[in-house]
Amino acid sequence: MSPRIPLVDLAAAHAEIAHAVQAGFAEVLATTGFVGGPQVAAFEREYAAFAGVKHCVGVANGTDAVELALRAVGVRPGEEVIVPANTFAATAGAVVRAGAEPVFVDCDRSTCLIDVPAALAAIGPATKAIVPVHLYGQLAPVEELRAGLNGLSEAVRSRVRIVEDAAQCQGARRRGRTPGSGPGAIAATSFYPGKNLGAYGDAGAVLTDDEDLAETVRKLGSHGGLAKYAHDIPGVNSRLDALQAVVLRAKLRRLPEWNVARQEAASYYDKLLGGLDGVTVPTVLPGNEHVWHLYTVQVAARDAVLAELEAEGIGAGIHYPVPLHHTGAFATDASFPHAEHIAAHTLSLPLHPHLMREQQETVVAALARALSAPRRRPL
Ligand SMILES: *Cc1c(COP(=O)(O)O)cnc(C)c1O
Repeated sequence: MSPRIPLVDLAAAHAEIAHAVQAGFAEVLATTGFVGGPQVAAFEREYAAFAGVKHCVGVANGTDAVELALRAVGVRPGEEVIVPANTFAATAGAVVRAGAEPVFVDCDRSTCLIDVPAALAAIGPATKAIVPVHLYGQLAPVEELRAGLNGLSEAVRSRVRIVEDAAQCQGARRRGRTPGSGPGAIAATSFYPGKNLGAYGDAGAVLTDDEDLAETVRKLGSHGGLAKYAHDIPGVNSRLDALQAVVLRAKLRRLPEWNVARQEAASYYDKLLGGLDGVTVPTVLPGNEHVWHLYTVQVAARDAVLAELEAEGIGAGIHYPVPLHHTGAFATDASFPHAEHIAAHTLSLPLHPHLMREQQETVVAALARALSAPRRRPL
């Protein structure tokens, strides 16, 4: 049975754009240009303008976007890339796909964003890049990372690159800056259906102001060349489909208002949860314009609370239940207390642009019941 109040509502989003999607699909079907073409080029232009960067290169998914961005800045086999332990597995998986080794660091316990001093301290002779993840819809303090790097030796400063994982923050800004903007900057985003801007399947993009980096990514994703049968470098097949571009263009027109709806829903949750004992509401890092990909609270006995919410038809979620250094794929002996604490306590409440206030009140009432249920007293 699908939940009464789902975590995300893709059907409601589709209803708003169904006409535009049908018209766009008809056009693509008539021309049979399924990969690349005018829809993709138009989307790349429109998204670059929205995202405040000069170049948007569409790729097949967000994981590829991270991998190709890493490869474009020169990450090579045998090198290390610093990644927060509390992120989706794709961030670290992309590092491995680029041939490098992820080196995990902890995060800030209240914002859940990468711990900048820890990231700087983890830099070693093999470090080639750092991947701050703009988790849940707000930007990590990239400017602090940059300033920290600038304070290190010339050798480190010129070698270590910042590659932003911007999969969860479409439309977010930090002190006016957007991911991938500025000299040498590069960011990867995902248009997985559940993201703030979601396709009807897999899609992603790399964002940068740097023309050379953009061209390298485009080559890497297109068998190593820009023209047919030109293979300047070894590449892969990672391109954006025309049908996905149709959907993304239609949704992009709504995205500003959808992000505002998310912001309004987040402040209403803040208000409703303000007086509730046992719930820590999410922290917005000062200087951030948050776009609330996820609204994550922290509670004790999280799994029991989640089970009770599910029993009441509330589609809550966990992002993410296992920190990457505790997964089979990326196990290490290191311990990252904040990432572990967050993994054990984080709970994502339903949040999407079509969520209604009464639904939020229902969610919070159910959460209050779950928190005060007798079996939830200290075990
Ligand atoms: C969704 C996501 C990705 C990967 O995107 P896909 O399009 O699913 O490959 C990478 N990093 C983060 C933080 C994500 O949330």
